[in-house]
Amino acid sequence: MKTCRRFERIKSGFEQDIRFMLNHAERYWGTTSAKVSQTSALGARHRMAKALSRHVQRCRECG
Ligand SMILES: [Zn+2]
Repeated sequence: MKTCRRFERIKSGFEQDIRFMLNHAERYWGTTSAKVSQTSALGARHRMAKALSRHVQRCRECG
């Protein structure tokens, strides 16, 4: 599948967030804060998938 620059930007933005939250979860493993971070990372992953598929549906360059 071909993707445009905007697709890459959306993706890398989310991935940066997810990486940050997972790093936090790892560092504070076993704490409530780590759990919250991990849940947020999963949520962000889900939102990323949604945002990207919505983008592909609308975008002329992607597909
Ligand atoms: Zn696109």
